[in-house]
Amino acid sequence: MPLSTTPLAQAETWRDKLFDGDWIDAPDSLEVIEPASGQPLHRVGKAGPEAVTRAVTRARDAQRDWAATPPRERAAVFHRAAALLQEQADTVARLIARETGGILAKGRHEVNEAVVLLQRAAAMPLEACGQVLPSAPGRLSLARRLPLGVIGVISPFNFPLVLSLRSVAPALAVGNAVVLKPDPRTPFAGGFAIAEVLHAAGLPKGLLHVLPGGADAGQALVEAPGVPMIAFTGSTPAGRRIGELAGKHLKKVSLELGGKNALIVCEDADLDLAVSAIAFGAYFHQGQICMATGRVLVHRSIADELTRRLADKARQLPVGDPAAGEVALGPIIDDTQLQHVKSIVDDSVAAGAALEAGGTHDGLFYAATVLSNVTPGMRAFEEEVFGPVANIIAFDDDDEAVDRVNDTDYGLSAGIISASVGRAMALGERLHTGLLHINDQTVADEVINPFGGTGASGNGTSVGGPADWEQYTHWQWVTIKDAPPPYPF
Ligand code: NAD
Repeated sequence: MPLSTTPLAQAETWRDKLFDGDWIDAPDSLEVIEPASGQPLHRVGKAGPEAVTRAVTRARDAQRDWAATPPRERAAVFHRAAALLQEQADTVARLIARETGGILAKGRHEVNEAVVLLQRAAAMPLEACGQVLPSAPGRLSLARRLPLGVIGVISPFNFPLVLSLRSVAPALAVGNAVVLKPDPRTPFAGGFAIAEVLHAAGLPKGLLHVLPGGADAGQALVEAPGVPMIAFTGSTPAGRRIGELAGKHLKKVSLELGGKNALIVCEDADLDLAVSAIAFGAYFHQGQICMATGRVLVHRSIADELTRRLADKARQLPVGDPAAGEVALGPIIDDTQLQHVKSIVDDSVAAGAALEAGGTHDGLFYAATVLSNVTPGMRAFEEEVFGPVANIIAFDDDDEAVDRVNDTDYGLSAGIISASVGRAMALGERLHTGLLHINDQTVADEVINPFGGTGASGNGTSVGGPADWEQYTHWQWVTIKDAPPPYPF
């Protein structure tokens, strides 16, 4: 079938279904609510532990043939999938925007990055996958990378397509099967969109399973005996539980978790550019990004002026239903998350922070908010907000700025804005983060970069680009001799 005749993003395709290579009936259903309207958007099958067990068994069977499939054939599947997604990018981006409550530009960004992930996956099967090692004469010694088997992928609601596909695509490309459990609030963006394109592109059945469900399904995946690796992206508390279980079952685990990311603005910064960077870092996708700018460290000599300009900007940013017109901020994903944001802002104001802008909401639409006089001990200083809140903290010198950035268990991203690149680089050397952006804010991911945090932001793994072979394969050492050697006994 020509790719263009395969229509994507049609809710009837997955109504009450799970995906195992075919769209299959599920015993239970989940209703997906569109955050902006509060109305039901579509209904999908709901997976529990039994569905996970079935999927793992099927995936194990399918994986053996897939690993033995010629690399060019494996590559071709991803080439076709990338082309198909590109053809229908607009339709897919619109549904992602509605399901996640994001603005359309964010939906388009996810689809564009997903196309790159598929293109890069297409390249992986044709890359070298081993090394010839020095050894004794007469013995060929090599190390080659082999797929692990069935990879369990568990992903969150905020950038679901990219955060699922960044593991699904490379894991499949190097010869694994995948059981994917997207967040139940975003099953299309985090799962079925991927199933649709890879299915239409000819991925053999049984290799990819998509099982929307809750923590019970995720836990079943972590405990399933036929799954040697879990790739988890989500909150630090859930990551800790998954890490404990993975340890108990001796599984490889990649944990990409939360953040409390600082942006340092030095006194020599261009203030208008700095304000724009802070607004993007703190407010893009309503601050629901692991790399969101959670602490804005501003040199005391410019703190008042910068706060005034940022508050002016925040008050002008339109908040509303992204489907109804041009807005900068859409809704928070659900009421639980909204209450979390609200309680952090309210508690911090009660503890002495100054509310410079925002702090109000209309339903799930929380206004772009600026807090100043934020100090250690306040919830706005300590906790990941995951909402559109810029927390301003004044500093007097570079040593104090470094201390404030590192004064957290998290270690995901940091940014530094200064007219002196040398000074910014020297500051950056002292920050404990997995990502560092000089003259930029904290939110950036090109999907081909190795992405990962330190401390409470992860377990030291990275995903993306050069890190992918390491993640989804294991080494096998192989030696070959012409004949068995004699031994002394
Ligand atoms: P969450 O941890 O509540 O959920 C993430 C996924 O894990 C969902 O699919 C959920 O159903 C599943 N899950 C939850 N508890 C589980 C358990 N005990 N066992 C197995 N699965 C379980 O996270 P969230 O609130 O939906 O997402 C936001 C969090 O994710 C934030 O902390 C954010 O910083 C983090 N995040 C990190 C990255 C990164 O790359 N470091 C990217 C995006 C989001």
